[in-house]
Amino acid sequence: MGMDDRDGVIWLDGKLVPWRESRMHVLTHALHYGSAVFEGERIYDGRVFRLAAHSARLINSARLLDYEIPWSRAQIEQATRDVVKANGLQSGYVRPIAWRGSEVMGVSGIGTTVHLAIAPWAQEGKLSVQARDAGINVTMARYRRPSADFAPGHAKVAGLYIICGIEKDRALKAGFDDALMLDWKGDLSESTGANIFLVIDGGLVTPTPENFLDGITRRAVMDLARKRGWTVEERRVRPEELAQASEVFLTGTAAEIVPVGSVDDHRYQPGPVARTLTADFQKLVREPDCEGFGESTHLAPPAAPLAA
Ligand code: PMP
Repeated sequence: MGMDDRDGVIWLDGKLVPWRESRMHVLTHALHYGSAVFEGERIYDGRVFRLAAHSARLINSARLLDYEIPWSRAQIEQATRDVVKANGLQSGYVRPIAWRGSEVMGVSGIGTTVHLAIAPWAQEGKLSVQARDAGINVTMARYRRPSADFAPGHAKVAGLYIICGIEKDRALKAGFDDALMLDWKGDLSESTGANIFLVIDGGLVTPTPENFLDGITRRAVMDLARKRGWTVEERRVRPEELAQASEVFLTGTAAEIVPVGSVDDHRYQPGPVARTLTADFQKLVREPDCEGFGESTHLAPPAAPLAA
């Protein structure tokens, strides 16, 4: 069954629309110019973990592209709760997406209306238990994350996923599970859809998200590690440091916490740090106030309006 051929409803511009009828026109600006912004969220026990943080990031991503989503954060949160409930989901994934419409066709999005859809579906983690135990096998990507002069890297925007998609496909075709990306300086940045942590001398080290997504899971994991009294260092990380790490793991909404079993020829044994944080994380996502911002979720400040 394709993603367009399912039962259930999608929240689309204020209405719950039957799944198969949630459509848009082929001359939609976002389809041609990559201007859609989106989120990936996860439902645990009927509630969306860090719903407030994800909804705020969605609005912020649009602002970084110089457009405004015509619903408030509170409205987006309520719409999400409504559509999760309407689909009767206790666990699963949620994809909110906002995009510029089809009133005009051209590079400029001025004159288009902004749309919003929220689609939730039942989906457990994509990784098998075996992959989780042994760790995933990753390779190094060829494309690099651009600097802030070249792209608004803190926006979760469709257009910026082009290099992720190419690298993910290249990795899968070569028999790997994912690829690690460097940034424009040659420092380690993240994978194609998750942040990265290294365990060095017993402490956590993670690249400073200068111009890539400062993941909501990443922030939650940093808080959990600090609560255990572990050091968490956010800094430039050279790719050579991968060889010094006793553990490497990825964090993201879909991935949760995934141990890395190898980076090309270098092997790792999934270890106690990722295991402990996974157990802590599974408790955290089920806490009664899990829909909030959490302790240290950060949002990139919206860019100064580009047109000003
Ligand atoms: N980086 C990229 C490129 C991603 O797509 C994601 C997933 N949204 C992340 C990092 C992790 O972010 P989060 O923990 O907020 O899901």
